[in-house]
Amino acid sequence: MSKLQSPRGTHDLFAEDQQKFDHINALAKKISQDFGFSQVSTPIFEFSGVFQKTLGDTSDIVSKEMYEFKDRGGESLTLRPEGTAGIARAFISNGLTRNIPLKWFYAGPMFRYERPQKGRTRQFHQIGVELIGAKDYKSDIDVITLSYHFLKELGLYDKGNTVLELNSIGDNESRQNFRKKLVDYFTPLKTELSEDSKTRLDVNPLRILDSKDPGDQKLIEAAPTLAESMNDESKHFYDNIKNTLQSLNIPFEENSNLVRGLDYYSHCVFEYKNSDIGAQSTILAGGRYDHLIKMMGGPEIPGVGWAAGVERLMLSSDFQGETKPPVAIITIAENSEPVGIQLCYKLREQKVQAEIIDSGNMSKRFKKADKLGAKYAVIIGDDELKSNNYCLKDLSKGEQETIDITSLISKLKF
Ligand code: ATP
Ligand code: MG
Repeated sequence: MSKLQSPRGTHDLFAEDQQKFDHINALAKKISQDFGFSQVSTPIFEFSGVFQKTLGDTSDIVSKEMYEFKDRGGESLTLRPEGTAGIARAFISNGLTRNIPLKWFYAGPMFRYERPQKGRTRQFHQIGVELIGAKDYKSDIDVITLSYHFLKELGLYDKGNTVLELNSIGDNESRQNFRKKLVDYFTPLKTELSEDSKTRLDVNPLRILDSKDPGDQKLIEAAPTLAESMNDESKHFYDNIKNTLQSLNIPFEENSNLVRGLDYYSHCVFEYKNSDIGAQSTILAGGRYDHLIKMMGGPEIPGVGWAAGVERLMLSSDFQGETKPPVAIITIAENSEPVGIQLCYKLREQKVQAEIIDSGNMSKRFKKADKLGAKYAVIIGDDELKSNNYCLKDLSKGEQETIDITSLISKLKF
């Protein structure tokens, strides 16, 4: 440790940023509750297998981003890089298979060893929802409408810079067909692919479509699309979602290259992008995971959900918090300090913010009160101390009056 600063890719949060962060979390929680999702909290670290088994060995997360460590008992643990795998684990370990459908909301820090840049940090925060035991397309509609309503309430639809992108990656059969076509297309071009995509071609060719490498992206433009390989059932599932969104007036754009970076997705996947926050523009992403719980050793129970990056939502949102101005308590009489402390506590008990200003001459103290943004000052001088009263000064009008504690509190409470 050379300099005293937080580790690369982490940030301290305070003042307006903390307020914005809290606002986003509270809004997501409130709207999730309105939609019938209740909060669940799972551990911040899990056995490494929870993520290795489910996210896929070739996913960016497992291959290079995990904060994996051995604890003192020699157990391999990983700081969670995302929420869904831990939630599926919790669903199985708590024996909740008979409680479906389950509608869960979560929020908290996630950890990925990535190259830090705007909108990409090593500790970041996600809010998300999962609907477990959700076979029908109406569950996809539930989580998508929830995400749309949340982003709208956050003001992200006010400026026309947010879009919902939608795609279907079909069921297993459709994906197998597609996989063959992709291998046929990319194999002759293998030498032109990025190193990562060369590996992807062998292990998980679909993931090539998710590549951010500019060379890969050129080749992707002419690649076959999944739509051509989709079976009727998958088509029908996807059409139901699109038609319903249209009937609800929820705008979306189709993006056939949207595949999502993780192994466990199937059918409908979606991302919201904000064009004003730089290269890391995906603010919320999700989809259907019909095989995740089975992959983890549970029964074949499907699910659908999404996660949003709180830091990217913060970049996207214009929200400005308000701070309640405190009442300044000015203790000038000798020995008035205990009375000042008592008053301060009494006011705070009544939800009136108060701060004691006990040093400097009178004009300095009023300047301090002004700096705090105080609208009122309570002055405790010799007379007040003797008569058990307070001098209340309206700082904007300059008027003052002597009142007792009951009137003082009732006056300051509003
Ligand atoms: P990206 O393509 O940007 O790497 P991802 O596909 O890895 O995203 P997900 O796993 O889908 O991301 O996570 C959901 C959301 O969490 C993202 O859309 C983004 O808003 C946020 N997110 C993911 N990784 C980070 C990060 N390192 N820093 C900040 N936010 C992140
Ligand atoms: Mg990523």
